[in-house]
Amino acid sequence: MKRGEMLYEGKAKRVFRTDSPGRFIVEFKDDATAFDGKKRGSIEEKGILNNRISAYFFALLARAGIPSHFIELISEREMFVEGVEIIPVEVVARNIVAGSLAKRTGLPEGTPLNQPVVEYYYKRDDLGDPMINCSHVVALGLASADELHRMRETALRINGILKEHLEAKGIVLVDFKVEFGRKDGQVLLADEISPDTCRFWDKQTGEKLDKDRFRRDLGGVAEAYAAIWQRLDGGG
Ligand code: UDP
Repeated sequence: MKRGEMLYEGKAKRVFRTDSPGRFIVEFKDDATAFDGKKRGSIEEKGILNNRISAYFFALLARAGIPSHFIELISEREMFVEGVEIIPVEVVARNIVAGSLAKRTGLPEGTPLNQPVVEYYYKRDDLGDPMINCSHVVALGLASADELHRMRETALRINGILKEHLEAKGIVLVDFKVEFGRKDGQVLLADEISPDTCRFWDKQTGEKLDKDRFRRDLGGVAEAYAAIWQRLDGGG
């Protein structure tokens, strides 16, 4: 397919029209931001790795019956996707306390949770993506009760599938964020699943292998993204 005009440029991705109606190209950039865009930088080859890693997870989830916007990889940095109407709710699932949950509860990072936690954030850059609850999601008309139920159940299923898959590769899935979109009455998983949107810890050493290395200036950022891909792709 042919790449047409750019429709949207975000912090980490660009979206282009194609000659196939209703289908788009997503291009993954090396740009990285954190803390509502206050911290900016670039991570070498992040775009290439996030494109591959997201495609890998979307394909894995599709095999488990979880549909997504992903159609196919078309180049190092580009994937072909179904156009969806993004539901403006970020759904976070957690297995272990980290990041904002550590701050909110005072529990140390690394504290295991008795059961997975699902949280919702209103996707509004101008408000700093505030946390909201199920009741807000429906009352504000962000999603219907049925869509909310489907997003919650799907996030929990994704958590189970990814957690088990990563565990076998020596990676602990601490938490992650997913987004969903509407297409023809369906709710499709969209956006990306990558070290930008997940927390991955090495099972043996506890080393962080995700965007926290950038957020917290830990160094070895590009190496961590590459290590995740290497483990997924069959390496040690
Ligand atoms: N996350 C994300 N985008 C956001 C906020 C969070 O992808 O805008 C991911 C983050 O990488 C982590 C999970 O969601 O895997 C939970 O993040 P948390 O609420 O702890 O936020 P943070 O520590 O990033 O403030």
